[in-house]
Amino acid sequence: MQKILQYILPFELPRAFSDNTFNELYNEWDKPSRQIQISVISCLTAFLYVAFTFIDKSSWAPEHVQALMLKSHMLIIAPMMLIISFLAYKGRFYKTVMLLLATSPVVAMLSHAYIASMLTNSPPFLAEGYLCVFWIFIVSGMTFRYALVSAIISSVILLLSAFYLMNLAGTYAIHAFWVFCSFSFGCLGALIFDRSRKAIFAAQQELHRLAITDSLTGVFNRNHLDNVLSQEVGRCLRYNQVFGLLIIDIDKFKSVNDTFGHATGDQVLQKTAQVLSQSIRENDTLIRWGGEEFIVIVLEADEQSLLCFCEKLRKTIEGEDYAVVGKVTVSIGATLFRESDSKEALISRADKVLYEAKEKGRNITVYT
Ligand code: GH3
Ligand code: MG
Ligand code: MG
Repeated sequence: MQKILQYILPFELPRAFSDNTFNELYNEWDKPSRQIQISVISCLTAFLYVAFTFIDKSSWAPEHVQALMLKSHMLIIAPMMLIISFLAYKGRFYKTVMLLLATSPVVAMLSHAYIASMLTNSPPFLAEGYLCVFWIFIVSGMTFRYALVSAIISSVILLLSAFYLMNLAGTYAIHAFWVFCSFSFGCLGALIFDRSRKAIFAAQQELHRLAITDSLTGVFNRNHLDNVLSQEVGRCLRYNQVFGLLIIDIDKFKSVNDTFGHATGDQVLQKTAQVLSQSIRENDTLIRWGGEEFIVIVLEADEQSLLCFCEKLRKTIEGEDYAVVGKVTVSIGATLFRESDSKEALISRADKVLYEAKEKGRNITVYT
């Protein structure tokens, strides 16, 4: 589909996401605005179906057909739309709502065809069919796949029913043409809209990534610290999984800058970040807190394991070859989260013991 459209369209169509996790994230992001759209539009549609019953139809529909229309609109379609409108507010019914939403135009088109079959002349409500196909794609709030399936079934009902009911070949041709117009306008519009939403989401994700990434070292920056801490404090209080916080500070880094220049200082920072990120576990988080200081959030820790881990990090850095600079060492302040801690208190405690480590001569870990 993408390839065919690319030949026809005079602009580049944003691509669909191939990554599943990204797709899930997108759906979560997309859901709230769709819920509002579905709810409001379904409510309006129900209202319009009710309003339709008050239009005088005596000149073209006999009484029993009018009664049937009244029943199908008031007892089936309008209530169905109102139920969808209500359920759309509840996130956990999202899939059910999509299914109901995709089914409702099909029900409407079946009743449309049945009522048309009871009239001898061409009914003046043919436009409902074209409008319905357009409604599915552009107005309803259905996601593209649901809309495509629903619109195909609805269009087939419209074409087949008219094929049997319209006796003039010329009238049928123009009817089929209008169905095709509504389908193509709707489908293309919905596809472009869908891809534009995905492009906006991808751009927003990229901006978010840039906002929490340190440009020099590529690890998280301090903007991300607050998110991680909130998440971990929550987890600790709920599941009693204690986490540790380390502040790692490169020793005498100023002299690296002074002796070898700022560019070499930057390389030392990059290499340290790289070594640290290779040494931590997958679920731990490394953050460049500022200058030559890094924070590591260590999950599921206790005093013993945290100290062991700090020593491993410290020795790994000490054992690295930093080219012209030679050896680089770090001092580490380490602490565990306590239930009474605020985020600031936790960081400040680690900072205090880091200061102690510096006082004690550097290249050591101090735990509190
Ligand atoms: P200590 O062992 O007590 O930690 O001494 P130190 O020299 O490491 O600490 P100090 O706070 O005196 O110096 C930190 C230096 O880090 C000062 C600053 O110029 C340098 N710095 C901060 N950010 C960057 C950076 O992005 N690149 C480079 N090259 N240097 C940086
Ligand atoms: Mg420092
Ligand atoms: Mg330092």
